[in-house]
Amino acid sequence: MDWKWSLVGRITLLATVLLGLAGCYEQEPKPRITGEQHRVVLPPAQTLPRQHLIGRSVQGRPILVQIAGQGTDTALIMGTIHGDEPAGTLLVDQLAKHLQDNPQLVEGRRVVLLSTANPDGAAARTRDNAHGIDLNRNFETANRVDNGTNGLRPLTEPESQALQSLIKEYAPSRIVSIHQPLNCIDYDGPGQAIAARMAQDCDLAVKKLGAKPGSLGSYTGETLGIPTITLELPPEAAKMGDSALWQKYGKALMAAVLYPDRAP
Ligand SMILES: [Zn+2]
Repeated sequence: MDWKWSLVGRITLLATVLLGLAGCYEQEPKPRITGEQHRVVLPPAQTLPRQHLIGRSVQGRPILVQIAGQGTDTALIMGTIHGDEPAGTLLVDQLAKHLQDNPQLVEGRRVVLLSTANPDGAAARTRDNAHGIDLNRNFETANRVDNGTNGLRPLTEPESQALQSLIKEYAPSRIVSIHQPLNCIDYDGPGQAIAARMAQDCDLAVKKLGAKPGSLGSYTGETLGIPTITLELPPEAAKMGDSALWQKYGKALMAAVLYPDRAP
């Protein structure tokens, strides 16, 4: 075979393979810029989970929320206000993914997702924040007890301040805060009906644990009158892995998101 034709043949073959490979990669969808107005055209808002920085922890870690959907009815779903209870973060992240993949579920409603309310505690695997304060005892409530663990006064911590501002800004109709390891569904304020609905969709029973001094549930449930659910997962929840966790508790979480409607 003529060596020149062989070289041309090889180059042609290489070019064909490279073009083929380039075609295999999906292009990232980019905002489209229209020619005349130079206007950026974004995809419809409800398909984008909007991320907001609501504050920073004692050690400067960002406290981030994702907002899915639009509407006046708002559910706040949050995890890991106690840093050593990481299952809440995994479950909230799974919920965010589920809502992103199924945008019809948030049509006409808004879901505020706070996956890690105590990022310093989560990093150090401690219940408290970096000041040694239990954030779930740091709110201003009638049953408040000031001390070195709860805070010498209400809202001493940047994390609890950020959470209070978030609740004031978004005025949720219901709140679910995910904890471990007490293996039940507890509620504060007028949350009994939502707790009962959630219990129909998982193996946890409704159990009233009692409002703790300065807790989020005491503040939002008893003081503000917002139905507030404390979803207490079992101790093994953090070791289950996120998809197994979603399999077991995702339906109950969606029951709270959609309440009083039911999943289609
Ligand atoms: Zn807890």
